[in-house]
Amino acid sequence: MSDGPSQPTPPTPTPTPTPTPAGTPVVELRGVSRTYGGVTALVDAALTVRRGELLAVVGPSGSGKSTMLNVIGTLDRPTTGTVRIAGHDIAALSDRQLSALRATTIGFVFQQFHLAPGVPVRDSVADGLLYGGTPRARRRALAEAVLRRVGLGHRLTHRPHELSGGERQRVAIALAVLGDPALLLADEPTGALDSSSGETVMRLLCELNAAGTTVVVITHDHDIADSLPRQVRLRDGRIVRDTGPATLAHAEPAGGGTR
Ligand code: ADP
Repeated sequence: MSDGPSQPTPPTPTPTPTPTPAGTPVVELRGVSRTYGGVTALVDAALTVRRGELLAVVGPSGSGKSTMLNVIGTLDRPTTGTVRIAGHDIAALSDRQLSALRATTIGFVFQQFHLAPGVPVRDSVADGLLYGGTPRARRRALAEAVLRRVGLGHRLTHRPHELSGGERQRVAIALAVLGDPALLLADEPTGALDSSSGETVMRLLCELNAAGTTVVVITHDHDIADSLPRQVRLRDGRIVRDTGPATLAHAEPAGGGTR
């Protein structure tokens, strides 16, 4: 693959982001395998994630979680099988079109996250909108709004070294949801945090999901996985268990079981 997560967003997004109603598939994997040289990292995976779901992809180290994340996140193409993201068959898209789809549809939260040292977090987040051509004042206003959304309204002008690890991870989540993506992919989002900060970050992901974002959490931690409505378990590159879609939180009547 020539493209990667750091590639700049092209100015003209070719695929139209598809506003899908609750319950329609955001992720569809059919017969997806990924082989690296002689190693098969993912074997014949079938998975449907519908809009509004919150699920964990869980498994031990080497079970294929990152491979699945890269395929779902369109950072990598499968060796065989079909991948549809927000209704787009990624095999039909060029790398450039894939970058555009990724930019408009998917937000990524990684375990390790680096903010520019010495730069107020509001400005770092505002810079996340540079490629969209948004004017500076508007970028700042949007950055402030999204930082308030993740509970950092009181930290707008703080520098990264003045934030806790949990707060920095919330900045990462703010950046990931800046463009209001249909799909949020979180790769071991609490892996570098103490348990209290980790709980806060998980609560935030649940809140974003309750507000309508589809969230996939990659984790090796069974407690985290079990706290989510759906678990997809991987072992040796195979899905060995899928508890299946829970009732969609925001499609439930008032009082339904969100967390
Ligand atoms: P996990 O994220 O669950 O730790 P991975 O998806 O990273 O698992 O890896 C699954 C398997 O694929 C492992 O055996 C790993 O060594 C192999 N693998 C992953 N990426 C590559 C790669 N780029 N080149 C070669 N082997 C790889």
